[in-house]
Amino acid sequence: MATFGTLSDRLVATFSNLRTKGKLSPADVDGTVREIRRALLDADVNLDVVKQFTGRVRERALGDEVNRALNPAQQVVQIVNEELIGILGGQQRRLEFAKQPPTVIMLAGLQGAGKTTLAGKLAKWLAGQNHTPILVAADLQRPNAVQQLQIVGGQAGVPVFAPEPGNGVGNPVRVAKDAMKYARDRQHDVVIVDTAGRLGVDQELMRQAADIKRAIDPDEVLFVLDAMIGQDAVATAKAFQDGVDFSGVVLTKLDGDARGGAALSVASVTGRPIIFASTGERLDDFEPFYPDRMASRILD
Ligand code: GDP
Repeated sequence: MATFGTLSDRLVATFSNLRTKGKLSPADVDGTVREIRRALLDADVNLDVVKQFTGRVRERALGDEVNRALNPAQQVVQIVNEELIGILGGQQRRLEFAKQPPTVIMLAGLQGAGKTTLAGKLAKWLAGQNHTPILVAADLQRPNAVQQLQIVGGQAGVPVFAPEPGNGVGNPVRVAKDAMKYARDRQHDVVIVDTAGRLGVDQELMRQAADIKRAIDPDEVLFVLDAMIGQDAVATAKAFQDGVDFSGVVLTKLDGDARGGAALSVASVTGRPIIFASTGERLDDFEPFYPDRMASRILD
């Protein structure tokens, strides 16, 4: 995964220096932990997360955890792998479906994060699993947002509920509510609501998102985060957590070549799981997020 290419290369290089060692001295462990720390920080992983991470790796590597099937270097790799899975959220978390359909999924995030594209990806993925999703255009801020969702819906083969001119235009809460009724009447089992984003976090945006959330009581609020925004990812995630208290995260643009470490910190900093990953502009560039697979890719 391009986003974590440099981090991955650095970690792998650190471990390969250990391969020739028969037994690891405390100095070897400290040296290795220092390298890991630098690699994570250079990749933009949040400082607090790095501290906790390296603290645990050091403690475990120096401890008396013994796996006789592995040499000392392999043991360190295994510990790092397990700790990486931990900061990425541990177990895979699947999308939660409502007991009584429709399942309502609201998307929130900054403008340009990839929400609209993600809405189409999610809709297509759900339709492929015999769900009957509908997309809702509640982003009424950005010119063309409604039209963009209609295009994405067309590509995904999924209907789009959009405000009729003069009826609820400018009022995304009303649009979202109307969409719920429309979806129930037509027995769509999943409702995916695209909301407005701004270039930066602002109070007005948060209030609007919170109002929509209150009006439609979603089963999931997914915070869509561009993995390429670097250090700002953590502050943005915290602002959205305060504003709309999302239930899960979607990482987008994991195909990019920017340092993606901040995105790696998000599950750990917010305590919310990463549920999906988006890896390109095409609708099929999308997959459920598996912490263990991501850790393996980074350490490969
Ligand atoms: P929104 O403002 O949050 O609705 O963002 P959009 O869905 O309009 O996406 C913004 C831009 O990012 C568009 O040019 C998308 O094609 C692009 N984009 C979205 N997801 C990805 C992704 O996973 N990888 C890449 N490379 N581009 C993406």
